[in-house]
Amino acid sequence: MSFAQLGLSDPLLQAITKLGYNEPTEIQKQAIPVALSGRNIIAAAQTGTGKTASFVLPILEMINTKYKVTERKLRGKRIRALILTPTRELAVQVEESIAQYGEFLSVSSMAMYGGVDDAPHKQRLIWGVDIVVATPGRLLDMIHQRALHFDELDVLVLDEADRMLDMGFIEDINKIIERLPHDRQNLLFSATISDDVKGLAQRTISNATEIAIAPKRATSNQIDQWLITVDKTNKSALLSHLIKEQPWEQALIFIETKQGAAKLVSQLAKRDIQAESLHGDRTQAVREKILADFKAGHIKYLVATGIAARGLDIGDLDRVVNYDLPDKVDDYIHRIGRTGRAGAAGEAVSFVSKDNFRNLCAIESRLGHVIKRKEFVEFPVKKTVPVSILNFVPKNKR
Ligand code: AMP
Repeated sequence: MSFAQLGLSDPLLQAITKLGYNEPTEIQKQAIPVALSGRNIIAAAQTGTGKTASFVLPILEMINTKYKVTERKLRGKRIRALILTPTRELAVQVEESIAQYGEFLSVSSMAMYGGVDDAPHKQRLIWGVDIVVATPGRLLDMIHQRALHFDELDVLVLDEADRMLDMGFIEDINKIIERLPHDRQNLLFSATISDDVKGLAQRTISNATEIAIAPKRATSNQIDQWLITVDKTNKSALLSHLIKEQPWEQALIFIETKQGAAKLVSQLAKRDIQAESLHGDRTQAVREKILADFKAGHIKYLVATGIAARGLDIGDLDRVVNYDLPDKVDDYIHRIGRTGRAGAAGEAVSFVSKDNFRNLCAIESRLGHVIKRKEFVEFPVKKTVPVSILNFVPKNKR
């Protein structure tokens, strides 16, 4: 199936060709025709499946066809589509996608997020903007300041809904939705459809078409997942060893705390490995610069806390490393989704020490298989990590 068969018009097809996409991904095949028909969608799809294009392309198509260029003029402070995202990084990335896919259209868009001066946002809204991508907190702030109105809104997108709820945005989201016109299209995307997400969907979206894209593990073996058991005190030495000996060209390294991130960067520096850290305390400008440098390959090793790294679109990343195994299974799934994206192969490596055993069991149960283990003779383990229960064979079957 081609993008043209999905019902997209020439300017969008031209942009897609320019980006080198050969054919739509599964979520795009399923969601784009439904979204173009104006129906509501609740979709279970992770980052890395091409979900962004599956809502951005129909929105661009809709704005382009519904509002012919001559009558396109928006009233001041009005918007036609609102995309809510959990983090500023994701807001920026989604807006970048809009700019890319909309290169041959004249549709305006902006990203709006907290942590920066709000004056430019207000200024930008004065003449109206077709598509606003925003984090809930800053958007609510703008609403309170009467910087934008929703009476011309056609579409609402809740992107990474599960994450927005995890991050405690439910009240903000409810307050925002209360202000939207009832007659609108709703598109909800979430890596997992948890009970909370279901609740949100039931309250806000009626008659939705449900789409579920199997998590990558079920559809491809493109992510080479493996783990190393390691004593906590040996982790940084092990990481340095792998970077130098494997060798690893680039890696996104997840760590639990920002203090841990700073410490690891200096431990790596002592071993002549230059790394950068990305955490929530860094200013917006610094975070954006670091991300751009990492994407461009100027930074080879990026040590990131979960929150700071959430929603990063790093393109065809070779490798993620769980230096600290995440507490939540969903986080593990999200993280490995950063690699092996849309056709590219990738590697996901986890460092597991004895006190991670329970988390490991939960992760492996969700995956439905144990994660392959590798050993490095240079790093013998004092505190062994048992093989999780999945491998348990009852005595009488031995
Ligand atoms: P997303 O899941 O939206 O974060 O997209 C993951 C990555 O896949 C992004 O880098 C997109 O540019 C890329 N992508 C999206 N759709 C396609 C496609 N049809 N073919 C190839 N790459 C794609």
